[in-house]
Amino acid sequence: MTYNIGVAGCGVAGLAAAILLREAGHDIVVYDKMEAPEPVGSGLVLQETGLAVLSYIGLSEAIYTYGNKINRLYGKSRGRAVLDVSYTALHPGAHGLAIHRASLFQVLFDAAQKLDVKFEFGKALHSVNEGEMYFAAGQKSPHFDLVIDACGVRSPLTETKDTVLPFGALWGTLDWTEKYNALDENTLEQRYVSAKKMAGILPIGKMPGSKAQKATFFWSLKHDDYGKWQKAGLTTWKDEVAKLWPESAPFLSQIKDSNQLVMAKYAHHTLKRVYTNNVVHIGDSWHAASPQLGQGANMALLDSLALALAIAKTRDIETALSLFQKTRSYHVRLYQILAHVFTPIYQSDSTVLPYLRDVFVPPIAQVWPFPKLMALMVAGKMGRPFKRLDL
Ligand SMILES: Cc1cc2nc3c(=O)[nH]c(=O)nc-3n(C[C@H](O)[C@H](O)[C@H](O)COP(=O)(O)OP(=O)(O)OC[C@H]3O[C@@H](n4cnc5c(N)ncnc54)[C@H](O)[C@@H]3O)c2cc1C
Repeated sequence: MTYNIGVAGCGVAGLAAAILLREAGHDIVVYDKMEAPEPVGSGLVLQETGLAVLSYIGLSEAIYTYGNKINRLYGKSRGRAVLDVSYTALHPGAHGLAIHRASLFQVLFDAAQKLDVKFEFGKALHSVNEGEMYFAAGQKSPHFDLVIDACGVRSPLTETKDTVLPFGALWGTLDWTEKYNALDENTLEQRYVSAKKMAGILPIGKMPGSKAQKATFFWSLKHDDYGKWQKAGLTTWKDEVAKLWPESAPFLSQIKDSNQLVMAKYAHHTLKRVYTNNVVHIGDSWHAASPQLGQGANMALLDSLALALAIAKTRDIETALSLFQKTRSYHVRLYQILAHVFTPIYQSDSTVLPYLRDVFVPPIAQVWPFPKLMALMVAGKMGRPFKRLDL
């Protein structure tokens, strides 16, 4: 049985779902509000979960030509390591792959185009009724057997309470300079002051059209303080970061204009009902979390694969969507809880949580079973997401 499927959202979830479902023979149209295919954002880490989905799609080689292997996550507060996770605690050779969103987008978009997925840009979804999508400019789509909502955290189809977190972060893409650079090219490194301040550098490999190695720089900031940050001026801020983290100097020197850093807001929400009337929510539109655990894109990829497998295994869409929700719910709920617990330890006004972190993490972080548990959590593999997919 093949279906006509409309996908709203040309991000990680929408593109991966479009590829997997097109490969299974369905007719797919992807709509996006962007006027032209143009990924926004900065770097992220593909974990073993997301990498396995990309390998299933046949995109491993392409993704590794861009990304950069990450072996370790390392963060210091008051001179002591309060985050030290090595992927190799899982198995030899285990790693994450840091990549710019533009590179991930390019790989997925090229694959979808090769499969003859149809795209319509400049179409901002407003609502869906009886299989027809209605767009903000008044147009409507043809009828679809299934509509996939992959519109991300601010999907117009999800009525979620305002769950924007007080802390977001400034993000920028810089060159991974070799000059005076004392940082390790396979480590995501961070520095903290309590949970109020955090700087991070993630080496993300290459971007489309460039051979240069890049890095993502981020600085935790409340969005209410963004105006104050702009007013204080770049020099004041750069001095503060350089004092906290002298090794970041070769990166700070590349920031010459505050517009090089974009303020990103973070939000948490989890929908109770993942589908209604042949409309299903995947990726951030179903479950959004702060990127503290670095799972969002990986969860979006897992959702896409779970949905495609559920459709392949069942005889009608209602049964497929019920199976999809059953397959993914446990893992999604588990990681939403973990994100709720871990976010304030690294980003909040709390003084108690970061104090406990600074006192207790250094002595126990290297004691069995913590190294393995932490690596399992970071790799997205707690809750056995693949066993649940029954591959
Ligand atoms: C700063 C930051 C850092 C992050 N770091 C990590 C990380 O290290 N690891 C990780 O796994 N995840 C990370 N994430 C999370 C990750 O980026 C998201 O979870 C992931 O992109 C979700 O994919 P998605 O397809 O659901 O949504 P998106 O990738 O946001 O895509 C949504 C798409 O829908 C389109 N759209 C929106 N509204 C409409 C509409 N009304 N009509 C039509 N189209 C619409 C948008 O234009 C967009 O193309 C990070 C997020 C942020 C903000």
